Amino acid sequence: MNTLDAFARRKLAELEAAALRRSLVDTERPGDSIVVRGGRRLVSFSCNDYLGLSQHPTVKASASAAIAAFGTGAGASRLVTGNHPLFAELESRLAKWKGAEAALVFGSGYLANLGIVPALAGDGDVILVDELAHACLFAGAQLSAAERRVFRHNDVAHVRTILGAQRGHFRNALLMTDGVFSMDGDLAPVAELAEVCANYDTWLMTDDAHGLGVLAKGRGSSFVLGDKATVPLQMGTLSKALGSYGGYLCAPRSVVDLLVSRARTLVYSTGLPPANAAAALAALDIIESNPALTAKPLAKACAFTRQIGLPEAQSPIVPLVLGASEAALAASRRLEDEGFLVVAIRPPTVPASGARLRFAFCAQHGDDDVARLADSVARLHRDARPVPRELG
Ligand SMILES: *Cc1c(COP(=O)(O)O)cnc(C)c1O
Repeated sequence: MNTLDAFARRKLAELEAAALRRSLVDTERPGDSIVVRGGRRLVSFSCNDYLGLSQHPTVKASASAAIAAFGTGAGASRLVTGNHPLFAELESRLAKWKGAEAALVFGSGYLANLGIVPALAGDGDVILVDELAHACLFAGAQLSAAERRVFRHNDVAHVRTILGAQRGHFRNALLMTDGVFSMDGDLAPVAELAEVCANYDTWLMTDDAHGLGVLAKGRGSSFVLGDKATVPLQMGTLSKALGSYGGYLCAPRSVVDLLVSRARTLVYSTGLPPANAAAALAALDIIESNPALTAKPLAKACAFTRQIGLPEAQSPIVPLVLGASEAALAASRRLEDEGFLVVAIRPPTVPASGARLRFAFCAQHGDDDVARLADSVARLHRDARPVPRELG
C-alpha cells in the first residue's frame, strides 16, 4: 500500500469509528417532495427546494429556452466573455427585491462567501462571526488575513462586549451571521445586530440562504419585522427556494463594483450557465407574485412543531437534536423504513454531541404527510426515552 492510499484508508477508518463517515446515495427527485432511493419512493423532508420551483413548469421552460438559445455553458469568467445579459437582468431584479442598490451573482453561495469576505476584510481588520454560522462564512473568514472573533450564538450582548473592548484596535470590522440558521432554523436578531453594528462602525452581512423565498413574503430575513433592517450586505443563494443554482450578494453599488475587480471566485471562475439565471428569474417572478405560496413552508413547519410539542418553528427548518451521531443515524433509518427521508446531520456540520434530525418543510408537502411524519417522530421519541428506573 502506498502512503496516499494508507492515508486515505486510515482517515476513513477514523471517521467510520466515530460514526462520521459520509457517503453519496443515488437519489432521484421526480417532484412534489418525493425522492426515489434504491427503488423506494420516500417523502423527503431533506430538500431545500422550499417552493418546489426546481420542478415548476414555467421555471423549467425558461431554463430550457435559455439552453436552446444560448447553450449549456458560459464559456469563460464573467470578466472575459461569460457575462450574459441575463445576469444584469437577474442582478437588478435581486437588488430591487432586497431593497439594495445593486447585486452581484456568483457561481454558488459557497463561492460567493469565499469571494466576498477576503475582498472586504484583510490585514488590520476584524471579522466577527456567529458560532453557528454556515461553514462557508468561516471558510471566507479563513481565506482573509483579518483577525477572527467568534461570538456566542445570537448573543448581541457578547457582540457589544467584543466591539466595545476591541473595535478601536482595528481599521475595519465586518460582522457575519446566517439570517436563518441552516441547521437550527432559528433567526438572527437582525435589527439588534444592525443597531450595534451602526454604533461601532461595523459592516453587517447576513447569509440569507434559507430566508429568500420563504420569510416575509419571500423577501427574506431582513424584512421579518416589516421595514427592511439596515443590512448593507445581504448574501444568499439561488440554489434553495429559487430552485436553480448560484449565489448572490445585494449591496451598495460601490461594493458590487469593487467585488467585480477583487472577488477571486468571480474573477477566476467561469460564469454560471445562462440557463441558471433564466431559471432564477422565472422563480423570482413566481415568488414576487405569490405571497401565499411563500408562506406555506413555514406554516407546515409550525403545524409539525405544534403537533409534537416542540418550540414553534421560526422558519421552514426544524431540528430535533439527539446528541450522538449513532442515535441520529438510527432515527433517520427508522423514518426511512416508514417512508420518510430525513437525513441525519452530524459533526462537524453541527457542534460535537449535537447530531440531529433536520426537517425541512416545503410548500408541496401534503398536510397528511406532515401529520404522519409528526406521528412517526413522536413514536420514535417515545421509544428512545430510557425506561424509568422503577419500571426497569
Ligand atoms: C446552502 C448554504 C450556503 C451555500 O449555498 P450554495 O448555493 O448551496 O453553495 C451558504 N450559506 C448557507 C447558510 C447555506 O445554508
